[in-house]
Amino acid sequence: MKRIALYGGTFDPPHAGHIAVARGVLRWFALDEVWLIPAFLAPHKRHTKPPTPAWHRYAMLALATQDDPNIRVSTIELDAPTKPYTVETLTRLTVELKDTARLFFVMGVDSWLDIKTWRDWKQVLRLANHIIVARPGYNWDDSHLTPEIRSRIINLRGRQPQTISASVDKKNCHIYATDAVQQDVSATEIRAAVRAGKRAEWLPLVAPAVAGYIDKYGLYE
Ligand code: ATP
Repeated sequence: MKRIALYGGTFDPPHAGHIAVARGVLRWFALDEVWLIPAFLAPHKRHTKPPTPAWHRYAMLALATQDDPNIRVSTIELDAPTKPYTVETLTRLTVELKDTARLFFVMGVDSWLDIKTWRDWKQVLRLANHIIVARPGYNWDDSHLTPEIRSRIINLRGRQPQTISASVDKKNCHIYATDAVQQDVSATEIRAAVRAGKRAEWLPLVAPAVAGYIDKYGLYE
């Protein structure tokens, strides 16, 4: 069985935080592949300004990961814009990959703190293993969750990254909390810096090819 992590997001644009998380979990959790899954329109962000069109976000993700053979970009959510919820994506992939892969779903701790606003969140947490990665500015907490879910958490915070893969349970579904990756970057801050013409601020936060793409197509101006 392959070990595959699914990492969903808006990726508007994909930044150094996303890439550090994808590379970090791939390595520390001894995974075979990470699939980045751009959302057509993230359900929880519908009330805000619509994201950049999906094809631009897909193209930037492909550019950001072109040198990482084990990090792929999936079109599963872009192909099915009428089924935008994570629970739907996870259900489809669980059925499709049932005999070939063990699935992990990756999210930042900011998303974890909001998890109860996700459609069928208990089912989301039941359908796969989860890896919750630290994000500067957000503290770990699990007091919002049920005792049953809390009992499935394996706390790997503070652990040497090299020791993490040995703690991954081969059979049961767990929720792993890790601080092996810490990158203080957000897409909101990058969009704002591009708009404000603060090039020196945003340039180091995206891959060079993504920076070239943002310039070429005049995104976020
Ligand atoms: P925005 O600022 O537009 O809300 P974002 O930077 O949070 O965007 P998303 O595409 O919304 O990026 O994030 C996708 C996933 O990646 C979420 O689970 C989020 O928690 C996680 N994530 C984003 N940036 C980081 C980071 N720097 N460290 C850890 N996790 C992150």
